[in-house]
Amino acid sequence: MKCVICKTGQTHPGITTVTLQRDKTVVVIRDVPAEICDDCGEYYLSEPIARRVYADADGTVQRQVEVEIQRYAA
Ligand SMILES: [Zn+2]
Repeated sequence: MKCVICKTGQTHPGITTVTLQRDKTVVVIRDVPAEICDDCGEYYLSEPIARRVYADADGTVQRQVEVEIQRYAA
């Protein structure tokens, strides 16, 4: 698909690192499958993967961890 950020790049399947920040918690999730723009590097998560990533981040926030690095496991 065409990248909506830079409007010139095309996205391709790949692996990215997602960083989410909520309140005092930073969650870094590595090895997340995503569509990645070959021009600007913006990534797009599919619906089920995004849900999973946000659910993981919610769990970390609830444990009041300040920084956590996770690995996405399918
Ligand atoms: Zn782009």
